[in-house]
Amino acid sequence: MNDHVPTVDLGLDHHGAAFPTTATLVSAVQELRKEHSDARHGVVLLSASISNAAEIVDLLGSAALEVVTSEVARRTLQHEHLPARLLRASSLGGFLVAVVVERDLARAQVADLMSEVRGLVSAADDQVWPIITVGARLYEEHDDTWSAIRDVRTAVFAAGRHTAGSVLWYEDADERDRPLDLPVIRDLALALEHDPDQFQLHYQPVRDLRNPRLLGAEALLRWEHPELGRISPDRAVEAAERSGLIVPLGRHVLRAALRQTAQWLPQLEEEYRVHVNVSPLELRHAEYADHLEEALLRSGVPAHRVLLEVTETALVSDDISVHHSLARIAELGVCLGVDDFGTGYSSIANLRRMPIDTIKIDRSLVTGIGTSAADFTLARSVLQLVSSMGVMIVAEGIESAVEAAHLRAMGCQVGQGYHLGRPVPAVDFMPAQEHHKRTHTA
Ligand code: C2E
Ligand code: CA
Ligand code: CA
Repeated sequence: MNDHVPTVDLGLDHHGAAFPTTATLVSAVQELRKEHSDARHGVVLLSASISNAAEIVDLLGSAALEVVTSEVARRTLQHEHLPARLLRASSLGGFLVAVVVERDLARAQVADLMSEVRGLVSAADDQVWPIITVGARLYEEHDDTWSAIRDVRTAVFAAGRHTAGSVLWYEDADERDRPLDLPVIRDLALALEHDPDQFQLHYQPVRDLRNPRLLGAEALLRWEHPELGRISPDRAVEAAERSGLIVPLGRHVLRAALRQTAQWLPQLEEEYRVHVNVSPLELRHAEYADHLEEALLRSGVPAHRVLLEVTETALVSDDISVHHSLARIAELGVCLGVDDFGTGYSSIANLRRMPIDTIKIDRSLVTGIGTSAADFTLARSVLQLVSSMGVMIVAEGIESAVEAAHLRAMGCQVGQGYHLGRPVPAVDFMPAQEHHKRTHTA
């Protein structure tokens, strides 16, 4: 550790844990709350856990883990603008802090704090990359401190299971911690193995907002279950992600989308690209880029005609295999797009470092622009923010001509949504494009 930076004394006792009494802990949180008692500020509880603690101990010993934990805690506590208190710490690589944030910016500020805290730590004459997983929850005046602490622990465990290295807010944890959808998982596995035709792709046009030009299509998974009927892609993808089946399912989708694109190639405009959704878990898979390369070769679709849509949280992941996949994707010349932008609270600064080609503005930012002045202003400022990045911006979920006109006026040039075309089976897609062109140029 550097000599000139003060270390944080974790105050560990001989069991390697710092457990202040209930009274001390509660009063520490309340004191902090009192010092920043205006309506604008709030206190967030953060439960942090070093997810690779066991590996650090295996390689470098438990003293190293303590050094790493205290360094991570120090960085968390010594942020320039966010006052914080250490509430407890354990030598197993976890600690609990209370941080003062601006209520409206809580998520963004916590995300920024954690991205500043991340980084190599020197311990036992070596360099360690701690994978820092965080559970977070806003602490309100009337809250019971212990149930608030239990909540952030629930969140950090849930995050550790699904997305180690990320921040999970308690209010988001429930959904993802639902019990496994076992029948759907079994049927997914059976279908992938014996009857992959149950999975079909529908295609939704991506259009220039100034003329009817077709700039691409997003391939969207449709699963027709023989007994249960249509199973929503959200449900299917969640079950696949939680069971590891997302890797074969994603591979199936990618191959099918490229096979279809290859068939359409002779008719396609020069700018046309096929958009394929990719789960963050696929990118974590070491062979993802190999599968992609193979699918390109097999189909004969040129790499620049493929755009992979990935959510922002996946792109700013700390996971080394994700970085590896992203680098290979760029090498292959395949385009990368940020999906659902505006829902993930990642910082633009982080995104700037990624080889991003396209940003898709989430439907939630588009929905109100025709009816609410506040939503209009919000969408406009988000567009201004991303327009500085020099990437293609696609607005999602455009359902009316009014929304399309507003977006065009805000400088957004590309869109997708029911107003511009619903997702349809491949056989209906190209004829519909011809029809659309005729009616719009007539
Ligand atoms: P997404 O990537 O954000 O896809 C856009 C979703 O919005 C699609 O829902 C689409 O049908 C819907 N949509 C498009 N235009 C409009 C509109 O104007 N209004 C409204 N209300 N909705 C619109 P869908 O097909 O149900 O897919 C849901 C999600 O499932 C997708 O969200 C994506 O995250 C995931 N998904 C779908 N196919 C795949 C896939 O092949 N692989 C992976 N990993 N995820 C997929
Ligand atoms: Ca998408
Ligand atoms: Ca989206």
